Amino acid sequence: MQRRSFLRNASLATGAFALSNYKSFAFRPDDPWKTKTLRNNVGIFTEKGGTIAYLLDKKGIVVVDAEYPEQATHLITLLKGQSPAPFEMLINTHHHGDHTAGNISFKGITQHVSAHTNSKANQERVAKEKKTEDQQLYPDITWDDNWHYKIGHESIRTHYFGAAHTNGDAIIHFEHANIAHMGDLMFNRIYPFIDKSSGASATNWMTVLDKAMQTFDGETVFVFGHGANIDKVTGTKQDLKSMKNYFEQLFDYTSRQMKAGKTKDEIVKATILPNVDDWKDDFKILPTNLGIAYDELGGK
Ligand SMILES: [Zn+2]
Ligand SMILES: [Zn+2]
Repeated sequence: MQRRSFLRNASLATGAFALSNYKSFAFRPDDPWKTKTLRNNVGIFTEKGGTIAYLLDKKGIVVVDAEYPEQATHLITLLKGQSPAPFEMLINTHHHGDHTAGNISFKGITQHVSAHTNSKANQERVAKEKKTEDQQLYPDITWDDNWHYKIGHESIRTHYFGAAHTNGDAIIHFEHANIAHMGDLMFNRIYPFIDKSSGASATNWMTVLDKAMQTFDGETVFVFGHGANIDKVTGTKQDLKSMKNYFEQLFDYTSRQMKAGKTKDEIVKATILPNVDDWKDDFKILPTNLGIAYDELGGK
C-alpha cells in the first residue's frame, strides 16, 4: 500500500526551508509503530521520525537513532520485552531532532551514547538556540573518522565521509549482519533536505554516496533515515545510485539554466526536476535545493 509521507507545519519561509519546520513526519499520523527483523538479530523500528535500527545480542542491546521521546519509550518497552540484555549503546547517525530528540528517553537506561564530533556539536548548538538543553541526552563517546565497537557476536563500525546532509553524518555498519544504517544520507525517493545551517554540502553528498557504494557490497542491506513509503526505508546499492542521480540531475539542470543566462530567482521557480521521475517532492523543497545547487556552482 502506498502511504503518503507528510510534514507537519511545512512551509517555505523567504525561499528557504525553515529548519524549525523540519520537525516530524510519519507515514500517517495515526500509524502505530512497526518493527521488522532484517538479518540475524538486527531489526528496524519505524513510527515517527528517522528510521531506528537495533541489535539484540545476548551481551547487550545497541540502538541506532532515537526518533522522539514518546517513540523511543515505545521502542525501549518493546525491546525489554524481547531480551533481558542491558542497553549498552545508543548511536546517533546525526544531530537532527527526528533522530536525537528521543535520546532523553534512554537516560539512565543506556550505558553510552556515541556520535560523530560534529553531530554532538550540532546537537548542543541547536538545543541552546531552542532552549531545550534540559531535554537532551548528549553523546559521551565521540569520534572524527571511523569508530569500532564490538559486542557479543556483532562488530559495529562507523564511517564518516565528510559533509553531506549536515557536516556530521555517519554510516553505522553492523559488519557481521552486513547492515548499514545510512541515516539521512538517504531520503529514498523523496527530495532530500540539505541543511546548510549545519554545514551541509550537496556537492560532497555525491562523493559520500560514491564512497558508500565502494565501501559496502552487493549483499549489504541499507537502512534509510527516510523513504517515500514504509517499503522504501530499506534497500540496496541501487537506491544509493538513484539518490546520486537525483543530485546529478539537480546540478545538471541548474547549470544548464545558468548557462542559458537565467537568474537565481528564475531558476528556483521550477516546479519539476527532469529525469527523476520516481522521486517525490514531499517537502516542497525543490526551490531550496535549486538555490543550493546555484550557490554551490558559484552563482552570484
Ligand atoms: Zn531525518
Ligand atoms: Zn536529518
